[in-house]
Amino acid sequence: MAFEGLSDRLQETIKKIRGKGKVSEADVKQMTREVRLALLEADVNFKVVKDFINRVKERAIGQEVLKSLTPGQQVIKIVQDELAGLMGGEQSKIQFSPKPPTVIMLVGLQGAGKTTTTGKLANYIRKANNKNPLLVAADVYRPAAIKQLQTLGGQLSMPVFTMGDKESPVTIAKEAIKKAKEDHHDIVFIDTAGRLHVDDTLMEELEEIKAVTDPNEIFLVVDAMTGQDAVNVAESFNERLNITGAILTKLDGDTRGGAALSVKAVTGTPIKFVGMGEKLDALEPFHPERMASRILG
Ligand code: GDP
Repeated sequence: MAFEGLSDRLQETIKKIRGKGKVSEADVKQMTREVRLALLEADVNFKVVKDFINRVKERAIGQEVLKSLTPGQQVIKIVQDELAGLMGGEQSKIQFSPKPPTVIMLVGLQGAGKTTTTGKLANYIRKANNKNPLLVAADVYRPAAIKQLQTLGGQLSMPVFTMGDKESPVTIAKEAIKKAKEDHHDIVFIDTAGRLHVDDTLMEELEEIKAVTDPNEIFLVVDAMTGQDAVNVAESFNERLNITGAILTKLDGDTRGGAALSVKAVTGTPIKFVGMGEKLDALEPFHPERMASRILG
């Protein structure tokens, strides 16, 4: 299970402070030392950890907290608040276009789960927001990608726009928007190409697709299992494309959690959804507060 190690360690740490009638400055310092180690071990970015610990200390060592009737619980509440804040605070909503179709572009490295997530997200939004999606196969380089999206479309009874693998992704994206308008689709999901590494050619192509489709959302799909790499990938994509959100996949695996806890702080981009399995309904909106309380138990 994701976060297991982190969760165990943090729970152990806060247990020591929970029931205490009196909490000293030294107790808080001891606790933050342990929290710091637990976060670093979970592969959270070191600068993120440093800022986090400083904020917790600053708030917890205040006189009102330590002199209060329930200092232990208040300190724990501060850790929980800060943990949720780290991941984005509130759950972020999708930006729908006032003038349909809403365009959602999915980007990411190969293998991150982009094509699967395109299907899952369309399925989720169709149900949750009563929309009529069109899926667009704009990954013309990975031979199986178009077929894969068509299969997903078949399973979801959702149309898939393709022009094969001979046209440029930019043309495909442009034509897809035209088609969506003609057929009264109020939302379009563009599955773009990925590469094994961030490279310039890929970024240029994505910038062009962005320019011709004017997307309402650009979601970066990142594999939570890749830890700090996921954060670096998010930074690179964000620099070029100004992504509007991240979707962390494979959170059902035994990720240590570093990516989930660092993406927002490092890139300023909120995590909007998380992938919890291979099935088409295994996608959930990301709730930072719920995640924080799940981690702290
Ligand atoms: P793409 O290259 O980025 O388009 O990646 P795919 O959509 O083909 O996904 C790569 C692999 O990851 C596939 O085997 C997916 O079933 C799997 N996958 C995607 N999302 C998740 C997830 O949330 N959990 C798990 N366990 N597997 C996932």
